[in-house]
Amino acid sequence: HAKTSGRNKHHLFCEQTQYEQVVRFNYELALNSCLEKEELQLLYQPIYGNKQKQVVAVEALLRWKKDHKYMVSPADFIPVAEQTGLIIPIGEWVIRQACHDLPIVQAKYGQQTKIAINISRIQLSEPDFIDRINQILEEEQVDPQYIDLEITESVAMIDTVSECSSLLQLREQGYTISIDDFGTGYSSLSTLTRLPVDNIKIDRSFVAQMNPPVLKALLAMAEALELHVVAEGIEQEDQWRQLLELGCNDFQGYWISYPMPLDNLPDLPHFLSSVSTDC
Ligand code: C2E
Ligand code: MG
Ligand code: MG
Ligand code: MG
Repeated sequence: HAKTSGRNKHHLFCEQTQYEQVVRFNYELALNSCLEKEELQLLYQPIYGNKQKQVVAVEALLRWKKDHKYMVSPADFIPVAEQTGLIIPIGEWVIRQACHDLPIVQAKYGQQTKIAINISRIQLSEPDFIDRINQILEEEQVDPQYIDLEITESVAMIDTVSECSSLLQLREQGYTISIDDFGTGYSSLSTLTRLPVDNIKIDRSFVAQMNPPVLKALLAMAEALELHVVAEGIEQEDQWRQLLELGCNDFQGYWISYPMPLDNLPDLPHFLSSVSTDC
């Protein structure tokens, strides 16, 4: 399935410059061996819960250290991995590594801390995705309640009944589901009410624009639908203050912490003493 859609997508690349095509071809070749060469790494970015006044989760963010030298951004290689089908073994590596790291994360931030894992739609649409993720968790002895699955908002996801039922099944087993980059896709209010999800992550473009009426509407909607709201891309104290006032629950961004290697997770919250959190 992934291979077929990959082939179709090649037509799109006619529009790319020759340079981009060469880069992509290079990636495609090199990505094939990234697992055996152990070139992948996970960084973890803390998500701070205002109610708990502590780190409630860390998001696993994948890095590819090509030839153990160049750091390739996931924005550049995830699309390639999706087109070639490599996202399946890479995605499984991510899940396994995150499960493996969970005890260290929990030792740092508390036993309730979750790991949020980005899941590609290609993974979610694999018929055996649920069996595979359950098996990995079982092997790593991790309870699904500590795993949050982040899925990017997109039209097709919402329209596909089978994906909707996958999400339902996953939730029944204890996983939580977050809609990532919320607001950048095309989901309407009515489709959102049908989505079996727990959290929405407001895209950082909304945080950067900081348009209070828009954010108020977004948060009111989330409240009505009983969805938990995470704000992404908090880069300044001011953004944090304003979103706190608007009623946002959880916060993630460079101002709180950059994505960090497992052995370098920051002691948080460094900023609490300087910020009033009563509003
Ligand atoms: P995302 O899931 O929305 O992750 C948040 C991205 O925003 C990360 O970029 C993170 O480093 C960045 N970020 C965090 N705080 C700030 C901030 O305050 N300001 C700004 N400007 N950026 C911030 P990153 O790590 O480059 O990842 C990009 C995207 O790649 C992710 O977006 C996610 O969609 C995808 N991705 C990352 N890891 C995985 C993975 O393991 N599997 C899959 N399928 N996708 C992944
Ligand atoms: Mg994410
Ligand atoms: Mg996001
Ligand atoms: Mg994003």
